[in-house]
Amino acid sequence: MIVCHDIHKQFGGFRAVDGVSLTIPDGAITGLIGPNGAGKSTLFNVIAGVHKATAGRITMAGEDITGLPPHALFARGVLRTFQVAHEFPTMSVLENLMMVPGGQSGETLWNTWVHRRRIAREEDELRARALDVLAFLELGAMRDVLAGNLSGGQKKLLEIGRTMMVDARIVFLDEVGAGVNRTLLRTIGEAIVRLNRERGYTFCVIEHDMDFIARLCDSVIVMAQGRILAEGRPAEIVRNERVIEAYLGTGLKNKVVAADIAEAMIGGAAS
Ligand code: ADP
Ligand code: MG
Repeated sequence: MIVCHDIHKQFGGFRAVDGVSLTIPDGAITGLIGPNGAGKSTLFNVIAGVHKATAGRITMAGEDITGLPPHALFARGVLRTFQVAHEFPTMSVLENLMMVPGGQSGETLWNTWVHRRRIAREEDELRARALDVLAFLELGAMRDVLAGNLSGGQKKLLEIGRTMMVDARIVFLDEVGAGVNRTLLRTIGEAIVRLNRERGYTFCVIEHDMDFIARLCDSVIVMAQGRILAEGRPAEIVRNERVIEAYLGTGLKNKVVAADIAEAMIGGAAS
């Protein structure tokens, strides 16, 4: 579905993404993992048109989409959610969903006068679609709640819901599980799997929870320091030594150092 060819993204002299080539297969759920600062969100932003790549090319179904702005990608069904949810806090959950699609007839004053009936019909259709989405996500009971009052996990579900208000083809989810409790994370996972199977959505998912990644993803791409470190099936990835080192390397060393210090201190106190 999406192919990245040697993508670079620099901020000043800093190489946040440093020569990434990857393929996101059509119809699959692909995981993107890696330690904080690896360049995962930056890569998402480049693919989704939020940042312009410093160099490299991106194709979608063989067509060059490099440098297209977010709205042009949105029109092609490329959607992303943000690491921090972007709800409209003072609007209801239902209204939040109804805000999404562009090109509604109600947007200009002229249309408001001339096409009242059509606007009313479109709004009915939009409402019906939003109610379907809420039912799908099991958020029906929350329809009139202000979005700002939802829990962190429910806001993430609402973000996924927004991708369902349009005809998405590929959805990029950035840390959809961060700060979400286990039960809700399972609901989010189920929603992703159902959207993938029932509606043919392709997903690319950034997530730190390895259980979640292993359960959901067909394949996993690992990034570290702006580059791809490994690619493979989840079961292979969790056993890959370079991956383990990228995640734990410094942590393990620090633990050893901490143990040495602790021992020296205890030894020192005893003598
Ligand atoms: P990840 O999502 O893997 O944690 P990011 O893509 O957010 O990593 O960040 C990769 C690196 O790029 C980090 O060191 C971060 O500080 C830097 N970075 C990200 N966005 C910007 C920006 N807009 N300006 C400068 N540096 C940035
Ligand atoms: Mg990130």
